[in-house]
Amino acid sequence: MENNKFEQMGDNHQMTSLKTPLRPDAFKKSDEEKIKVIQEHFHKIMEELGLDLTDDSLKGTPYRVAKMYVKELFMGLNPVNKPKLSVFDNKYDYNKMLVESDITFNSSCEHHFLPIVGKAHIGYVSSGKVIGLSKINRVVDYYAKRPQVQERMSMQIFSELKKVLETDNVIVVVEAEHLCVSTRGINDKTSKTTTIEYAGVFKDTAIRNDFFKLMNPK
Ligand SMILES: [Zn+2]
Repeated sequence: MENNKFEQMGDNHQMTSLKTPLRPDAFKKSDEEKIKVIQEHFHKIMEELGLDLTDDSLKGTPYRVAKMYVKELFMGLNPVNKPKLSVFDNKYDYNKMLVESDITFNSSCEHHFLPIVGKAHIGYVSSGKVIGLSKINRVVDYYAKRPQVQERMSMQIFSELKKVLETDNVIVVVEAEHLCVSTRGINDKTSKTTTIEYAGVFKDTAIRNDFFKLMNPK
């Protein structure tokens, strides 16, 4: 039965491609239309669970969930929400490593729709272009705000930064807790998952070790 296969796949957290799988008609409807339809569906889910939707406390939940999905948790699905990532010429000729660490993010596991919470640590060495620091946070946030697997999220952030900075000298480390691991299934409260992606000068072990030291200064 197909559901058995789905359960196994979810717990193995397999990823099928680097691009988030989207339908060709993904954004034909407006946010408002999507919220309306999701609200109706979520109403049905709650009803099916046996909840009384006439209760004052539950009444507004389908709308709140629908709005939260479209406008917050999954807003990074829609390319119109992609942050403007302007880069500048590296006027001050700073040509060493820049590290931005402990960038907190919230994402959602695409296999269970439960939170993934963690931190991203980013480093780059300019090949002539630099980017505003807050823009790095915004890239992380944009790719986090969609149903995700951690490996794909790391690679999407990595390839975006390489593209806008016009350099291969980028490293991305993501460490996260997956609530689908800590609150159900195996129920492991302490494990965390770390992914790493790098290219250019970061292929050099010594440079990578410099990054790790700066990422975790102690
Ligand atoms: Zn999961």
